[in-house]
Amino acid sequence: MALEPETDIRYLKGVGEQRARLYGKLGVATVEELLYLLPRHYLDFTAPQTIASAPVGERAAIRATVLKKSGEQRIRRGLSLFKVLVGDDDLTLEITFFNARYTVQSLTVGQEYYFYGKVGGSLFRRKMDSPQVYPLSAGGTLLPVYPLTAGLSSRMVTRQVEEALSSVPLWEDPLAGSGLAERYDLPPYAEALRMVHHPHSWAEVERGRSRLVFEELLCLALSFARLREGRAALRVRPMEKKPMEAFYRALPFTLTGAQQRAIDETLRDLCSGIPMNRLIQGDVGSGKTMVAAAAAYFAAQNGVQSALMAPTEILAQQHYKTLEPLLSGLGMRVALLTGSVPLKEKRVIKEALAAGELDLCIGTHALLTGDTVFGRLGLVITDEQHRFGVGQRAALQEKGEHTNVLVMSATPIPRTLAMIIYGDLELSVMDELPAGRRTIRTYLIDSSIRERAFGFVKKHLDEGYQAYLVCPAVEEDEEGDPTLKAATAYAAELAAGAFRNYRVGLLHGQQKPSEKERVMAEFAAGEIQLLVATTVIEVGVDVPNAVLMVVENAERFGLSQLHQLRGRVGRGSVQSHCILISDTKNEETRNRLRTLTAVTDGFKIAEEDLKLRGPGDFFGSRQHGLPELKVADLAADTRLLQKSEEAAELLLTRDPELESVPALRRRCESMYRKMSL
Ligand code: ADP
Ligand code: MG
Repeated sequence: MALEPETDIRYLKGVGEQRARLYGKLGVATVEELLYLLPRHYLDFTAPQTIASAPVGERAAIRATVLKKSGEQRIRRGLSLFKVLVGDDDLTLEITFFNARYTVQSLTVGQEYYFYGKVGGSLFRRKMDSPQVYPLSAGGTLLPVYPLTAGLSSRMVTRQVEEALSSVPLWEDPLAGSGLAERYDLPPYAEALRMVHHPHSWAEVERGRSRLVFEELLCLALSFARLREGRAALRVRPMEKKPMEAFYRALPFTLTGAQQRAIDETLRDLCSGIPMNRLIQGDVGSGKTMVAAAAAYFAAQNGVQSALMAPTEILAQQHYKTLEPLLSGLGMRVALLTGSVPLKEKRVIKEALAAGELDLCIGTHALLTGDTVFGRLGLVITDEQHRFGVGQRAALQEKGEHTNVLVMSATPIPRTLAMIIYGDLELSVMDELPAGRRTIRTYLIDSSIRERAFGFVKKHLDEGYQAYLVCPAVEEDEEGDPTLKAATAYAAELAAGAFRNYRVGLLHGQQKPSEKERVMAEFAAGEIQLLVATTVIEVGVDVPNAVLMVVENAERFGLSQLHQLRGRVGRGSVQSHCILISDTKNEETRNRLRTLTAVTDGFKIAEEDLKLRGPGDFFGSRQHGLPELKVADLAADTRLLQKSEEAAELLLTRDPELESVPALRRRCESMYRKMSL
């Protein structure tokens, strides 16, 4: 029977209810999904080794003849072993199998096999434990090893994939007729799937995979194009050009070129009549807040209300403190709405909002609650957007009709990744820091000279400056890692010990909002000299007098996160320092941390980070609305990403409805559905 892509895997030989359930755990329910279950790696039988040539300590396929089989030796209950002696023209190899009666019985003395395993022993007495045995027919191929779940063996999956593969040549090639396979030199669909599941060389693996990656990224690019197009069909009242001079005059500094560009791009969007959807991406300290302020000022002059949503109460307050004096001086009415605003005051603000009497409302999630009504909302600004779920962004957007959206992200995301994650957003990159900003001198030390580092901190505290000390955890590790610095205990230890003559404060995410608020206010007022904190401080609170940061267990943080953290210092005109403490023995980790001592460009650091950790880790477990990619690896496949973007454009200009490529269209539709949920 010919199988269709959508055929349930239960129609495959050997797949019953139970196995189907196991496949379900791997996300496989249909034949097509089975084919997208790509091997994790391959066992290389393309160049089998002799016993003499196999590198000791590494896995290899060895071709050898069975010379002798010993009987079963019982070691203890439930554990028995078999010895099998094999040999080739030069040497013999002593193989030990554990609990493998069936495997050993199936070996025939005098016959050749491949034994795949790790070679050990000495040159004259080579040994191998528990190898996998393959018939000679495996020779010349790469055997796929699949991601497994208990109960499904790789061999079983291989058999079922083989069966599924036999039907693929009958299916429609998603790229057929598009000319794209020819243009980018990609193998046909069926070939590509065969190449990844049943390759004869590494070159085939690469070639097959690149076709599948291309197609997946193409679907993504097409889906984003459709999102953009959907928005382009929407209309908002275009704002009119209004003079900005008063705003610029009110600023205590001149804007950087990057700020000015981002503002110009934003205002142009607002005048376009199509709802704005723009991402302002700028390194810490690049001055994104002023872009938000300019946009809100422009909107207010157009009679439009703005909302500015921050992920934390502290940050919302900070924005309010910066923006209220500036904008009220320009005649705007600005309010702060957060969870801790007293109920009565909240009611007054909400009434004013609904009546359209406020021009800008700054707040947290409190802005999202159902009883917050905006009278004439037209611009939604979210700060540090990767901390908001996509749904929250949408919820705020829905409070106005087709609202303009401005997103500010302080995580410098490599451009390639930004294209994927924010593919439906226009992008302004702020790659310039305000003039006169000194770079933060960063050092990497180990704990043996922590005392000296503390001396350096005290010297600064004595001069009236303040410092942060960042810990990776709030409480002691459950496994009791004695070297892990936990904020709560460490703060107490320092306050009683090394820093007993100084005012030490503690800030972490598990404190009540009001508590955090109080601590932050004390630090901002200079009452706390040394603030022991977790990564809660990562998000933008400005204390220019804080010029030093010490990070304990630096190896526990990502590079981008450390970069983000150190952005908390260096906000004034004094030279700032960041001291990373780590005792990691891992050379790679040390080198990674060393990057920070030399590189100051957040985008470069993010790229390093992405290379090392992959996009999943890069964003932690946070929701970011990215559809799950099955084959593409965003860090590694940037070249294909560019090609697929180009191809999407090509295809859409020629055939906007994708009528000539129905199979591709179906695939895009399924991805699009997942994205717009
Ligand atoms: P971020 O991009 O990290 O949100 P902020 O908007 O908080 O940066 O700005 C960081 C600091 O730089 C603030 O103290 C702000 O007042 C200051 N700043 C912003 N733009 C300029 C500028 N053009 N020149 C000098 N200082 C500036
Ligand atoms: Mg900011």
